Parts: sequence; structure tokens; C-alpha cells
Amino acid sequence: MILLKRAEEIDLMRQAGRRLAEVLELLAGMVRPGVTTTEIDRAANREIRRRDSFPGFLGFEGFPKHLCVSVGEQVVHGIPDGRRIQEGDLVSLDCGLIYRGWWADAGLTVGCGRLDADGERLVRVTREALQRGIEAARPGNRLGDVGHAVQAHVESEGFSVVRGYTGHGIGRDMHEDPEVPNLGAPGKGIEIRPGLCIAIEPIVNEGQPGTRVEADGWTVVTSDGRRSCYFEHTIAIGDDGPEVLTRVGAAA
Ligand code: MG
Ligand code: MG
Repeated sequence: MILLKRAEEIDLMRQAGRRLAEVLELLAGMVRPGVTTTEIDRAANREIRRRDSFPGFLGFEGFPKHLCVSVGEQVVHGIPDGRRIQEGDLVSLDCGLIYRGWWADAGLTVGCGRLDADGERLVRVTREALQRGIEAARPGNRLGDVGHAVQAHVESEGFSVVRGYTGHGIGRDMHEDPEVPNLGAPGKGIEIRPGLCIAIEPIVNEGQPGTRVEADGWTVVTSDGRRSCYFEHTIAIGDDGPEVLTRVGAAA
């Protein structure tokens, strides 16, 4: 069942989203050569709690930490484990919080220090793919338009969309209906209506789209060992179009 949110509910999600945007900006700034994923995890916990929020990833389906950090060929759901980040690494941060009962979920990929040209392009194209998906998430369109916008941009640049992981509705729970795939056909799928709140999260591989899950049961890695990239925003659909709730500098 798809729950459309009322204006006062979206306002609480806006407050949650602003807090998460602040936290993610701070965490992204920590990505420097020598920092460990555990240090980023501790900062996530501290910064979320000091904003009167709860780090919702902790204990979610048994997840042991406060955010996911995925490095290099790790795609998503990497567990902070003390790994030391090195110059040139691609580092994806995926974080969520609960504020007054409402979720925000967002993430980004940053390069540590200087990235090679292909890495820079992978990051740019994935960020652009999220933006294209957001622009397609307007009343009257359908979720297939969102997926198509993401997929078309990624594939036009020679990269591949990871299968089997999607965006999602969000609100009182992190994962609500509907699923928001990163691929699709224009004009297909559920109609996008005001009050719909979703997380859009393109996951893009440098090489082939295949993935597998590591022995820890969480960490997803590329099958071909090449790198992966990811961006995510929580958005609310208004009468006039999408509003990004997790953008840094979003209105208070
Ligand atoms: Mg998500
Ligand atoms: Mg997320």
C-alpha cells in the first residue's frame, strides 16, 4: 500500500532530511587518506544523535553499524570495519536517520584525494543520473519514467546499472512501497502523485552490472572487481514537482 503524506508529515520529513544532509556533508569531509571507516561510523553516530535523531541503520535487519561505507569494488552495504581509506579510493557513504518518527535516507560517493579520470567520470555520471531521476519524479509521470531517466543516462555513458537493488518509498519506515527501480520504460509503472515520498538511489558500475554478496552477508561487491558508485536523495513530490529533502542547504 502506498502512503501519501500530508503537508505536516512532509514538514517533519523535511526536518529529518535537513539533519541528514548536514551529517552527510560532515562525513564526506572526513574522507581523506588514512581515515578509517570506523572513525566515519563513530562520527555518524555522534552527529546524528546530537541532532535529536536516531541512527536508524543500527540494528536494521541486524545491521551492526550506523552507516554503510563501501570502498572501491564494494557496491553497497559495506560495514565499517577499521579499513583505512587510501588516496584515489572511491568511497560511498549511505546513511539514514529517524527524527520524531520520520525517516530520511541519503548517500553519496566521494573520491579520496585525487581520482583518476575514469573515476571522476563515474562519479559525475552517477550524480547526474540521480538528478535526471529526480527531475522525472513529477506529478503525472510514472515510476517507469524515473527509472528510464536514470538508466538512459548511465548507459549512454557506457556504464551499467546494478540490478536487484532499488530505491523505495519512505516515511515512518525506511522502506515503504513502492519500489523505485533504476531502470524502466517511459509511461509504465505507478503514477507519481503529490504526497508521494521516495528515495531514489542509482547504483552504477564502471564495468558489468553483476554483483555478489560477501561472506559477511551484507557487503555487495562487483562480480568483475571494477568500481561502483552510488548517490541517493529522499524526495517529496509536491503539486509543482519534486522537492529534495536531503540536499545540503535545504530550507530550514
Ligand atoms: Mg535507500
Ligand atoms: Mg540509503
